[in-house]
Amino acid sequence: MLYTCGHKTPDSDSIIGAIAMAYLQNQLGVEAKAVRQGQINPESKYILEKFDLEAPELKTSFAGDDLFMVDYNNYTEGPDDLKDANIVGIVDHHKLGGIVTSSPLEVWIRPVGCSNTIIKEMFDYHNIQIPQNLAGAMMCAILSDTVIFKSPTCTKIDTKICKELATIAGIEDFKSIGMEMFKVKSAVDGVSARELVLRDFKNFDMYGKKVGIGQLEVVDLSIFDEKKDELIADIKALKKEEGADTILLLLTDIMAMGSQILVATDSLDVIEKAWDIKVENDQFWLKGCLSRKKQIVPFLEPAYK
Ligand code: MG
Ligand code: MG
Ligand code: MG
Repeated sequence: MLYTCGHKTPDSDSIIGAIAMAYLQNQLGVEAKAVRQGQINPESKYILEKFDLEAPELKTSFAGDDLFMVDYNNYTEGPDDLKDANIVGIVDHHKLGGIVTSSPLEVWIRPVGCSNTIIKEMFDYHNIQIPQNLAGAMMCAILSDTVIFKSPTCTKIDTKICKELATIAGIEDFKSIGMEMFKVKSAVDGVSARELVLRDFKNFDMYGKKVGIGQLEVVDLSIFDEKKDELIADIKALKKEEGADTILLLLTDIMAMGSQILVATDSLDVIEKAWDIKVENDQFWLKGCLSRKKQIVPFLEPAYK
């Protein structure tokens, strides 16, 4: 059995990508099953329900198993026993993260906005039809990862493939589905601070320092007005618990096109140097910032050097 699985704290690209990859592999004659490493977030739940897809099962240990990695390529986002898994393939759109394998493997990594964009190209390469509902879900994954084409990570290939998927799914107004999805994502009432911090959270090793970066993408930042103090207190607590050097929480306003960044850090100088900003009241505004991958990590990591 081949398992297809996205990263820890799975997002929609990881969940839908695992399902699409399992479907593709099964069509190619490889017995495959989509699984996930963590809880399904509200956006992914919305997509699964909308397109009548079954949620992948939870699986956190892969020792001795065949694994196709989806939407990540490093150890920190993988299962704890990733070193003991047999990695047969990677489909991803992130920087290389230092994976070592024991056998040759299939690698599909390109600088596009979404792993599902590349998975669609794999379907085309193998000449396999994508079912209508799966195409709709893959389209949503692209709209999510590219913030409805606004993110600097979005390429012409993503928009082209997203439109092709919309056509297969029989969907005309895909941008309004994208907005609906981001409204679901913006529902933060009654959710604990910790749950919000960890909803889309990634750990990084930056020159030996542990750095955690969470991101919440919403249509209107004012929903955090009442919650911000609690969120700041929580990332400070999390930093201590994790023994991290820095925890950042990006509150991204997809309409205003920028991020209010909440900061808990032992390296204030590094943070201020990274973007040439001043942190005041444990936060700063980063105009134009929508992408952790392109506008946060490539600035913060070298500042630690
Ligand atoms: Mg992802
Ligand atoms: Mg992705
Ligand atoms: Mg994302």
